[in-house]
Amino acid sequence: MKMKNILSYTPEELKALMGEIGEPAYRAGQIFSQLHKGISLDEMTNVGKATKEKLSRVVDVAFPGVRRKLVSRLDGTVKYLFELTDGNCIESVVMRYEHGYTICISSQVGCRMGCKFCASTLAGRVRDLEAGELLGQIIAAQRDLGIRISNVVMMGIGEPLDNFDNVVRFLKLVNLPEGINIGYRHISLSTCGVVPKIYELAKLDLPITLSISLHAPDDETRSAIMPVNNTWGVSELLDACRDYYRVTERRMSFEYTLISGKNDSVESAAHLARVLNSHLRSKSETMPIHVNLIPVNEVEESGFKSTGRDAVRRFAAELEKKGIRATIRRTLGSDINASCGQLRREETKGE
Ligand code: SAH
Repeated sequence: MKMKNILSYTPEELKALMGEIGEPAYRAGQIFSQLHKGISLDEMTNVGKATKEKLSRVVDVAFPGVRRKLVSRLDGTVKYLFELTDGNCIESVVMRYEHGYTICISSQVGCRMGCKFCASTLAGRVRDLEAGELLGQIIAAQRDLGIRISNVVMMGIGEPLDNFDNVVRFLKLVNLPEGINIGYRHISLSTCGVVPKIYELAKLDLPITLSISLHAPDDETRSAIMPVNNTWGVSELLDACRDYYRVTERRMSFEYTLISGKNDSVESAAHLARVLNSHLRSKSETMPIHVNLIPVNEVEESGFKSTGRDAVRRFAAELEKKGIRATIRRTLGSDINASCGQLRREETKGE
């Protein structure tokens, strides 16, 4: 794999790169750990000018730049529009919880999955992000805010399983003790359901949390809002989830975006519970299932309307009644349009 970004390299690969440019290999470790702590190559005092110049000639060494930054007055949520070295923009959101800071990162510039309610996919996919560009979002945010981030969710722009190799490389890099050092258990990956890649991910047996964007219990409703369902239907997707759970034994969560009049009736809730219970649970298996309910964030182009509070509660109660744990997502950063895709969309609309 040809990598342009210095943050995409493992310590061993960085050593090899140093060798290629005629620099001593022992410097690789120093450079790696400083970069991952948020010290830019420019700022490093223990690396000579000549080395810096040689490295800059073969790889991109800059962190993502802060093009825009919005801070919520309601809850301190921070939303970044980061600019990459080629001028493309992506979004990341930092949220503060009792147990620490969580960052939501992007995995691609744009997205080609076409979910009807989502702002990130309106203009399609521009390109995949390199592992170093995924990592760069965490490094740049930690540096800008002077904090240490303890949790990562891959729920920003893009479909992580449509950029599989770079995402897996990222997961391994972010977990390194000499790097950012975030444990796999503190990382969630959210997918719209790229089924073959769920099986591939299961084989790697990384103890991350897999989050499935389900949004409907039946093929007809799901295909109407998520084109990916035409390729892999609800049954196939849930079979892949069962396999994932059998291999990793990690609790899985399902995202369910409530859209008024489409998928938010009590009947839909009962149907959802039935489908989850019948596919994922049997007498011998008691897979823990968790459903996160999210009233749809209204995106101008989609015309979808959000479900009212009472209807959301009724939906949750129906799931609980059928043995499915349901949480109604707290909305953070609602004053800054913190749902990913919305800020980049604003920036690129006129272009
Ligand atoms: N492509 C991945 C990750 C990015 S989207 C995925 O589909 O899971 C992260 C989550 O936000 C998904 O559950 C997605 O369906 C949801 N989402 C996207 N647009 C939304 C909107 N306008 N309102 C509510 N949730 C939305």
